[in-house]
Amino acid sequence: MTKRAYKVYAIEHGTVIDHIPTPGALQVVRILGLGNEGIMTIGIGFRSKKLPQGKDIVKIENRELSKEETDTIALIAPEATINIIKDGEVFEKRQISLPSSISGVFRCPNPNCATNKLGAETRFELEDSRSIRYRCTYCERVTVVEPHLLAGQLSSV
Ligand SMILES: [Zn+2]
Repeated sequence: MTKRAYKVYAIEHGTVIDHIPTPGALQVVRILGLGNEGIMTIGIGFRSKKLPQGKDIVKIENRELSKEETDTIALIAPEATINIIKDGEVFEKRQISLPSSISGVFRCPNPNCATNKLGAETRFELEDSRSIRYRCTYCERVTVVEPHLLAGQLSSV
């Protein structure tokens, strides 16, 4: 199964994020804060037995993402699978799980929160993993992580 997926475009070293439900690839790139730091391949809409609506794949060359980084993907694509590639082989198959706390990745929806009023860096603690709810450590508001709250969404405005 993995061999076939890599036929699309094999990489020698780096990180492959597979089984992202279509069309989540660009959000994954955004949540990871990846920009122009090397070769990145984004594939959208592959057929998948696991994901009937199709899957996206993101391949980041020459960069091994940390567990902390890949766990943020669980916020938007908990089904995603991570493969760390070294010398053209799968070096590590990594499961992702929701991070217990997140800093700076998404905004607090409370307009009166210090993070919005004073520009403090956001920080959230996991409140309920089943519904993906996090509690803001500043104003205590509990929120579901939604794509529009990703901090990167604002920078282009
Ligand atoms: Zn807040």
